[in-house]
Amino acid sequence: MPSDLIYNGNISSFNELSEDTSCEVLVIGGGVCGLLCAHYLREAGIDVLLTEADTVASSTTARSTAVVTVGQNTLIHDIAKRKSPDEARKLLLARAHALEEYRTLCKKIGAKHEERDFYLYSSEKPSKIMHEYEELKQMEVDAALVNEMPIGIRLPAIKFGHQLQLDPIDFCARIAKDLNIREKTRVTSLTENGAEAISSSGKYKINAKRVIIATHFPLPKLRGLYFLKLYQNRSYVMGLEGVKDIGGAYEDISENGVYMRMYGKYLLLGGGDHRTGKSGGGLSSLMRYRCEHFEGSKIRTTWATQDTETLDGLPYIGRLTRNDEKNLVATGFGGNGFIGSMISAELLRDIILEKKNDFTSLFSPSRSMLSEQLFKNIGSTITTYLIPTTRRCPHLGCALVWNRAECTWDCPCHGSRFSKTGELINGPAQRGMRR
Ligand SMILES: Cc1cc2nc3c(=O)[nH]c(=O)nc-3n(C[C@H](O)[C@H](O)[C@H](O)COP(=O)(O)OP(=O)(O)OC[C@H]3O[C@@H](n4cnc5c(N)ncnc54)[C@H](O)[C@@H]3O)c2cc1C
Repeated sequence: MPSDLIYNGNISSFNELSEDTSCEVLVIGGGVCGLLCAHYLREAGIDVLLTEADTVASSTTARSTAVVTVGQNTLIHDIAKRKSPDEARKLLLARAHALEEYRTLCKKIGAKHEERDFYLYSSEKPSKIMHEYEELKQMEVDAALVNEMPIGIRLPAIKFGHQLQLDPIDFCARIAKDLNIREKTRVTSLTENGAEAISSSGKYKINAKRVIIATHFPLPKLRGLYFLKLYQNRSYVMGLEGVKDIGGAYEDISENGVYMRMYGKYLLLGGGDHRTGKSGGGLSSLMRYRCEHFEGSKIRTTWATQDTETLDGLPYIGRLTRNDEKNLVATGFGGNGFIGSMISAELLRDIILEKKNDFTSLFSPSRSMLSEQLFKNIGSTITTYLIPTTRRCPHLGCALVWNRAECTWDCPCHGSRFSKTGELINGPAQRGMRR
């Protein structure tokens, strides 16, 4: 795993499932989201089992830059305008609470963490930053507008003081060690009584009263219409050596913007984002940025990974479908999955414990789907579906495209990825490609 070259944590391994079993809550997926959901349920005294198809924190979470911050693009301004100021305020409260929860939890479990200021800026449209700041000021958020950042960039930026930077592997290792986990155990279907899963020794039934689907992209193909509500964006990271400490974490929200943080002596430089299966950005755009801004630095490692994006920028956390009393879901973190996972863990715990939670409707997966992005997703699915080729995605049959940079077959509709020889790399597909 390339990001292993940088991050330090040591995750213990767990046995596979080898018999039918029962639990109160089954959590499917062992990324940061599934782990936090299982942790908070266990703390509440619930008997919880977590199953992971591969090994814990080996997928998106392992490749995250793991900056935990209240700031996210211009989302507060956007939600205030598109939905309501009340909903924007709630979002802010949810994010601020999640950040504080990380501070407490990291201290409690002894996880490596650093407090750093986080700077949000736009090299293309600084006015966007001013709008976001105005909205934040009205909501009395503890953030300041500065005209120059410690890295030397002279642009207006919103400074969020004392945010957190984690080591994602170390954090997950510490959460995982007290949990009941079965690795190399892939859930193949949801059933009336829980789920069915396979491991190398066979197929087993898991009886559970409630199920949390934390598989990054939800497991069911059609139920809940996630194939229309979600798409995936790929993003690239470089670990650079020989760079002076940049004095904080940064994100340029422009279309081709970068994000940066230090991890020990390394600068993690991220960006080059594009929809999975489509062209654009990529590692070459980061290479260019490195030459322009960090000349003389040495590339220690590079990696790429992808995150799920929703129709309105807010994650989907709650019941899988409006009337589903059993299955819950957490997905659509849009590059902000650490905060999103903490919000999910507390919200889903409260749903299971039948406790009131102020954020239930804001993040409800059953909220309105009407948006420009919905039509883009439909358009992309139809055009990709109609391309005549024998290389098709086992998820919903979309045509796969060859990714020359990474030598993989990628699905432009929903973001599944396969190796040259057809092995599954990323879902929503749950099996390899037929050749
Ligand atoms: C380059 C990059 C940088 C990022 N940086 C940040 C950042 O700085 N801060 C931040 O907050 N967020 C960041 N994010 C986003 C964040 O990393 C993700 O949102 C988060 O890691 C997602 O966690 P997850 O648990 O939902 O998914 P994953 O980590 O992908 O975990 C899902 C797990 O489910 C398992 N699974 C799938 N199907 C099954 C099945 N059928 N049965 C059992 N298990 C299954 C998979 O094997 C996987 O391990 C970044 C994302 C990218 C792409």
